[in-house]
Amino acid sequence: MTTPTVVVTGAGSGIGAAVAAKLRATGANVLGLDLVTTRSDEATPDVRAPDVRAFDVRKEAAWAALADELRDRQQPVHGVVNCAGTTWRARLGDVTPDAFTHVQDVNVLGPLLGIQALTPLMPAGASIVNVGSLAAVQGHYPIAYTASKWSLRGLTHAACLELGPRGIRVNIVHPGFVETPMTASAVTAFRAAAVAETPLGRAGRPEEVAEVVAFLLSDAASFVTGAEIPVDGGAGSHGGAKTVSDALRPSYRPPGS
Ligand code: NAD
Repeated sequence: MTTPTVVVTGAGSGIGAAVAAKLRATGANVLGLDLVTTRSDEATPDVRAPDVRAFDVRKEAAWAALADELRDRQQPVHGVVNCAGTTWRARLGDVTPDAFTHVQDVNVLGPLLGIQALTPLMPAGASIVNVGSLAAVQGHYPIAYTASKWSLRGLTHAACLELGPRGIRVNIVHPGFVETPMTASAVTAFRAAAVAETPLGRAGRPEEVAEVVAFLLSDAASFVTGAEIPVDGGAGSHGGAKTVSDALRPSYRPPGS
């Protein structure tokens, strides 16, 4: 059986590193790409990805060179995971055009360029997984990030439509609050508020997202495309109703009591 080749962006840290480690453990040939390859990742020391290649997902020429290299090696691509991402926590009134464009370039243009460059090398049965966010389905305050992730959802559904006839599946996962360097960079109030809105009552681990990504890449998901799968401990399922529920819980009397 051919060893599947999977390209994972953002493989140097956090969720991308966990995805790369999970796929390697299942025997895949993982081509990990990241802007930064040398960061000391104390939050997730066990999932630090080896063999990450320096790569900027915003650069069309870099994608073209990668596609040429794989084509020359006659190496088909069975999976692409668009996990590289960045955030910018300015609010509506403060975000600058430059910051807005930067976030859009990394979070949306990067996945578009990757899909454009690599789909010619993808056989029927191949799978693309984009890493969205709870902020792709709700109105989170970091407006550049939220807008970029909603945009990535649109890209996912349009690509699903376009690539379905070739047998290529395209899905998106929406992590909730997951412990990574990205979330470690936020103020502690952000973590506390996010966990308070999570029915499972805790932050997620990168490996828990990696499991779902690995499923979507696998043949076990052979009839799943255009799907949006939350990996968020239930945070997206209640539309804020948990805050109300928790506030009233102390005065609740079960029926018959
Ligand atoms: P992270 O910061 O640990 O990892 C992101 C990686 O992307 C970094 O290694 C970074 O160097 C890389 N990257 C940034 N710009 C790049 C570029 N131009 N080219 C190549 N690589 C680039 O963050 P993470 O939390 O692991 O985030 C991974 C993905 O998950 C992101 O798309 C993020 O938006 C998404 N996400 C994370 C959370 C969370 O709670 N951690 C929640 C929802 C969504």
